[in-house]
Amino acid sequence: MAFTTRFAPSPTGQLHLGHAYSALLAHDMARAAQGRFLLRIEDTDTARCTPAFEAQIYDDLAWLGLTWETPVLRQSENTAAYDAALDRLDEMGLLYPCRCTRADIRRAASAPQEGAPMHGPGGVIYPGTCRNRRWEDRTDTDAMRLNMARATDRLSDLPQYSETGTHPALRLTRAHLTDVVGDIVLARRDTKTAAYHLSVVVDDAAQGITHVIRGEDLATATPIHVLLQALLGLPTPIYHHHRLIRDEHGKRLAKRDDARAIALYRSEGATPDDIREMVGLPPA
Ligand code: GLU
Repeated sequence: MAFTTRFAPSPTGQLHLGHAYSALLAHDMARAAQGRFLLRIEDTDTARCTPAFEAQIYDDLAWLGLTWETPVLRQSENTAAYDAALDRLDEMGLLYPCRCTRADIRRAASAPQEGAPMHGPGGVIYPGTCRNRRWEDRTDTDAMRLNMARATDRLSDLPQYSETGTHPALRLTRAHLTDVVGDIVLARRDTKTAAYHLSVVVDDAAQGITHVIRGEDLATATPIHVLLQALLGLPTPIYHHHRLIRDEHGKRLAKRDDARAIALYRSEGATPDDIREMVGLPPA
């Protein structure tokens, strides 16, 4: 299959230098491999995403010199596919309804007999309060969690993946998945929509992504994605996690870091090659 990669921003803020690096690197790698570059708008969090930020993403990326295939996949238009994946996991008996709030989880996780709360890629590791609740007991305000122990038991061999970037691949073991990752949320209680981990896995497969190129801040999420791919019978791409662009204090750039927004550099007269130089890429 032809090398196919994607850039998958969420329109919850302005694109900054870190996004520019990720998008340009993926685009450069696709071009070098004579492959395909796709864009995906990760806009399931409707409370934080705005049409203006989305419009600005297209505008900034085009200005940077990127081209992508159309139509662009917008996750808000693809929720039926995520619901179908949730149904499949539910039919396998791997999901349970959870009514815990963040405060409940923090409290339960730091109860004296539990010791210090454990942290995984999604924050505090879920202490399992609702694990024995039955599916029939769920209410409209429940989240849905993956029963990680059951999920790993279902697979005779845990899947593995290849990594070509800055992070050696993490080996998937049952202990890592149950004790470090834990019972992650796959459908959110607030928006009732599929969580990031599920939508990203469904869409990478639907878009035929062979190479996922993204920041190393997401490297800890990759074992979750690889596990979900195995459970859902989807192919596992090759992963390439890249270094993060940092500010002068060594802090990684955040969405609210408008001082490094591409739009601001543009308004100050920077050229696309100036941006490439700032993030350490050769001129186009
Ligand atoms: N939407 C995610 C973000 O903006 C990236 C998802 C991914 O590349 O897998 O951080």
